[in-house]
Amino acid sequence: TEAHISAMEETRELNAYIVETPEIALEMADASDKKRAAGDAGLMEGIPIAMKDLFCTEGTQTTAASRILDGFVPTYESTVSGNLWNAGAVMLGKSNLDQFAMGSANITSYYGNVINPWQRKDSDAQLTPGGSSGGSAASVAARSAMAATGTDTGGSIRQPAAFSGIVGLKPTYGRCSRWGVVAFASSLDQAGPMTRSVRDAAIMLEAMAGYDAKDSTSVNVAVPSYQKALTGDIRGLRVGIPKEYRMDGTPKEIDDAWEQGIEWLKSAGAEPVEISLPHTKYALPAYYIIAPAECSSNLARYDGVRYGLRVDGESLDDMYERTRGEGFGDEVKRRILIGTYVLSAGYYDAYYNKARRVRTLIANDFKKAYESVDVILTPTAPSPAFGIGEKMDDPIAMYLNDVFTVPASLAGLPGISVPTGLSSEGTPLGLQLLGKAFDEETVLKVAGVVE
Ligand code: GLN
Repeated sequence: TEAHISAMEETRELNAYIVETPEIALEMADASDKKRAAGDAGLMEGIPIAMKDLFCTEGTQTTAASRILDGFVPTYESTVSGNLWNAGAVMLGKSNLDQFAMGSANITSYYGNVINPWQRKDSDAQLTPGGSSGGSAASVAARSAMAATGTDTGGSIRQPAAFSGIVGLKPTYGRCSRWGVVAFASSLDQAGPMTRSVRDAAIMLEAMAGYDAKDSTSVNVAVPSYQKALTGDIRGLRVGIPKEYRMDGTPKEIDDAWEQGIEWLKSAGAEPVEISLPHTKYALPAYYIIAPAECSSNLARYDGVRYGLRVDGESLDDMYERTRGEGFGDEVKRRILIGTYVLSAGYYDAYYNKARRVRTLIANDFKKAYESVDVILTPTAPSPAFGIGEKMDDPIAMYLNDVFTVPASLAGLPGISVPTGLSSEGTPLGLQLLGKAFDEETVLKVAGVVE
């Protein structure tokens, strides 16, 4: 813990943390030492981690990286963070993110962007760690945390993991409780581990996961010992290669890394099978209707009365308007406007209901594919980490980052990003493995071989 506190201080220029909590960390580490001495060590005993600042932490500021929650100190603990503390994990601080987890580059945070510890060779230009869990990814990559929590609505664990050369696992929707996690799009949001290795991800997921009566979408299925799944034996497993993920304009090195991954799995005895996920091209437009729709509803609660910021006005309506006007960032406002529009009478059927139907078609594509394969292998993102400032004034270019991650999110399926090597620029590349619902074990097992 002390070494990681020093690393946290030495890498402050990355802006990976919104709040550092070294005193809390030392206290928790002391308690851990005692538990270990008493022979009562938990699964994560004494492991110092960064907690994405989207998880409510009792007594420690929780902002979702938005001005509207600046100064908000929850009086309760999210289930997932509570599970981690119960397993012995130690909190180093709250990690930075895109505002309300909306973004792919960690540039929409009220507390400033996060810088990727990786740089292109021969260039000191600053790169994005990806987003929205950018601070979590950067802290693990910079070794200022041993692991971190992330949340993934459309790729926010997997894409930053790929950009930062670490492992990121989005579990099946319903595997980890959403209780106490600031909501973005409730039918998509899912918490998961961001770690240095697949084994670490397996251990951490086991500590985070589990049924929670306080989240009505939490699913009551047993949590297995994920570490036991890491046998390295993938002989005879069928790995789906979806042909629709070979997209025009994907850089050659992304496709090359994908080919490399297929070769690795083949030489370990797995069998690659070409599959079709025919509705893939509709996933991104459907996601960017459903996610903003849910966000516009979820973010209605920030009214200046109940949480964080209040900007006084001449009347109640004026107070609402000023608080929301000054409290939310531009990307959040854009999403609220899109969401309100697609949910309004007259457009509801044309946009929102249509997007929901597309979502069912996408889920059915996966169901059909999994009749003949055990896992699916794809690239995680269509590019390596890009420069800070790039794509900033072009939301569509930014949204295209999610093209490979969003379909599994819409279908609620588990996915992991594993580092697979370096781009020609010397920056990390990641491959994504997707699995059947609640079959994180196979995903982890195959990921352990790709790693
Ligand atoms: N980049 C996607 C978005 O902006 C995904 C974000 C996320 O998974 N939280 O919505």
